[in-house]
Amino acid sequence: MITDELTSKNGHLMIGGVDSVDLAKKYGTPLYVFDVSSIRDQIRKFKSAFENAGLHYQISYASKAFAVKAIYQVMKQEDVHIDVVSGGELQTALAAGFPSDKISFHGNNKTFEELVMAVQNHVGVIMLDNFHEIELLSRILKTDHEKINVMLRLTPGISAHTHKYDQTGQTDSKFGFDVESGQANKAMRLVLEDENMNLLGIHAHIGSQIFGTQGFVMLAQKMVAMAKDFQKEFNYWPEVLNLGGGFGISYTEDDDPITAQEFINQIADELKKNCEKVPEIWIEPGRSIVGPAGYTLYTIGSRKDIPDLTPYVAVDGGMGDNIRPALYQAKYESVVANKMDQPIVETAHIAGKYCESGDILIDQQALPATKSGDILAILDTGAYGYSMAMNYNRNPRPAVVFVENGHDKLVVKRETYQDLLSLDLDY
Ligand code: PLP
Repeated sequence: MITDELTSKNGHLMIGGVDSVDLAKKYGTPLYVFDVSSIRDQIRKFKSAFENAGLHYQISYASKAFAVKAIYQVMKQEDVHIDVVSGGELQTALAAGFPSDKISFHGNNKTFEELVMAVQNHVGVIMLDNFHEIELLSRILKTDHEKINVMLRLTPGISAHTHKYDQTGQTDSKFGFDVESGQANKAMRLVLEDENMNLLGIHAHIGSQIFGTQGFVMLAQKMVAMAKDFQKEFNYWPEVLNLGGGFGISYTEDDDPITAQEFINQIADELKKNCEKVPEIWIEPGRSIVGPAGYTLYTIGSRKDIPDLTPYVAVDGGMGDNIRPALYQAKYESVVANKMDQPIVETAHIAGKYCESGDILIDQQALPATKSGDILAILDTGAYGYSMAMNYNRNPRPAVVFVENGHDKLVVKRETYQDLLSLDLDY
């Protein structure tokens, strides 16, 4: 979101103490830039909110939001846990030197091979999502003579107020064990009876880009009620309640997210009121940790003016590096990085270069006078941008640069045409 905090020097957007126009020159565009101190600040805010509320806690960065070696290394430095949802994310985290005992492995259809990989690398916990997975894991543990921590992902029947594609907590969902129909109880029994599985606790995730505290408070209430039922039926009390992620961020001035402290205080009150022994609380923020830290720099190219209609200003990237606007009408704001001090003169569509009419990154953007060669910076693109990037139209994926305290460091190289061809074979 455009705020007074955006800094500029000589009319240029500064990111982490580095001139963004120099970054565009040095590394080319499109370019993802992450302000690492913003990532560290957000993690520290979550931690101090829990400490102020007097809860035992764990922050587990949901790495699907942005999963490259360098970010796992930052997470290691900040001493948080991470969660992964595929063999690829797990492999990347391990290659980054991230400690496997701080990894939670999620996913609604983990393959046999992925589960073997998780067991053999001794991940901290496997989040069991369905009966098929309980059976596969049980078999692997027996054969490999291994024991492992597990949690059950439950579908608590709560739907958060957000875009429908982001809702994952309601009953009609592909994720988790349904509570209402008794699936959760059945799963609990199977896991408790398996001597190779240590049931660490229960998990639920109610959606993404959530602004209010109400959904999380309802979730805490529901999870405590479920834990009490499990205690009655199985004499089992969870060590951990994992409330998932989904904390919203400001993409535009219409977005008004809650602070970490607001949400954690309310959860703490709820839990202290209702539990004799409050479990350790885990959360899995993804977007809120990396989203606001990310910028995508583009070079402006062509322009199309149509009489009486909004002009199109096209950039050298688009849906291949940020699918979110095309996929679920996500909104962003941008600035012209080399003209921060110039007056706004028009509103334009910011168009991508992909062969889809729907490849519009921003529908209505206020702009100063622009020309080909100017650098456009879209703000808050750190989450689900690079991680969802693809090669549609055989466009190579951009590079990623980290900036901190006035220094910049390339952490993912730009894909080349050679890279694109590296998997193709002749016929
Ligand atoms: N945890 C789980 C289980 C998820 O499915 C997701 C996102 O889909 C997250 C955490 C992270 O959500 P967000 O990036 O919105 O914080």
